[in-house]
Amino acid sequence: MEKFTGESILEFTDRFKTDLDCLEYLASKKWEDNYKCSKCSHTKFTIRKKNFARDCNLCHHIESPTANTIFHRVRFGLRKAFVVIFEMSASTKSISAKQMAKRIKVSRTTTTTFMKKVRISMASSESMPMVGNVHVDEFVFGGMENLKQGRSNDSKKKKLIIAVELSDTGGVKRVYFDTLKNYSSEELRNIFDTHISKQAKVKTDKWSGYKPLAKEYDIVQVKSDKGKSSKEIHTIIHQVKSWLRSTFSWVHKEHIMKYLNEYSYRINRSLFKDNIFDLLITRMVKTQKVKYQNIILSK
Ligand SMILES: [Zn+2]
Repeated sequence: MEKFTGESILEFTDRFKTDLDCLEYLASKKWEDNYKCSKCSHTKFTIRKKNFARDCNLCHHIESPTANTIFHRVRFGLRKAFVVIFEMSASTKSISAKQMAKRIKVSRTTTTTFMKKVRISMASSESMPMVGNVHVDEFVFGGMENLKQGRSNDSKKKKLIIAVELSDTGGVKRVYFDTLKNYSSEELRNIFDTHISKQAKVKTDKWSGYKPLAKEYDIVQVKSDKGKSSKEIHTIIHQVKSWLRSTFSWVHKEHIMKYLNEYSYRINRSLFKDNIFDLLITRMVKTQKVKYQNIILSK
């Protein structure tokens, strides 16, 4: 089955006219590599025309495309679920759960829950650390806004760290965020260990917390020049803050990482924007439902 590409809402609505169209797409993604019966491991099957389920030729166990995925019993319908995923991936900014609820005519609770699951799928697989030129900086969000950049110990503000990988021409290639409990080396190192290769050339400000990390990572510390020394990183910080402020009237501290994941997902794949929807759908239909429940409960 041909994959859906592009960002056109018209092409999108032409392609996915009914819940059944979406079901067929999910089936093609779920079993794109192979099919193995979940009961007896047999690999031959017959496709049921009415819902694209696989009927095992040996034990006749029937598995629907949505079985054991987060699309199982999506009460508001697969087509609406697809619209939410399209909006969150192919659009430039995405929208709030409240706006989304109006757009697809379901309750806000429904969109809130489903969008949470999409955000979990957008979290990094952490399998491709950044190499090359990487800039790292800290910033705060929330509480009383002021124009001061950098560290703050105001307890109402969320402490965050950002790592930006730059291309040879100075453009932004990838962006990752993490939350910080404080500005100690132990806290700062999480984003390094998760997202930055030891081969990367890293630039930070002069904060002493980075010094111990320089034993393992290639770090150059330069005096922070009110944002002038690293324009790209400050542009991103500015953009992410204004996106959070304008799209979500209230971002709970505990959940900020999920929004930041969504933001990095779009930026990090902006070069592959044509495939972004297809990639996300594939990831979602191949992730076991239980994973989402564990993550949501543990937060
Ligand atoms: Zn079987």
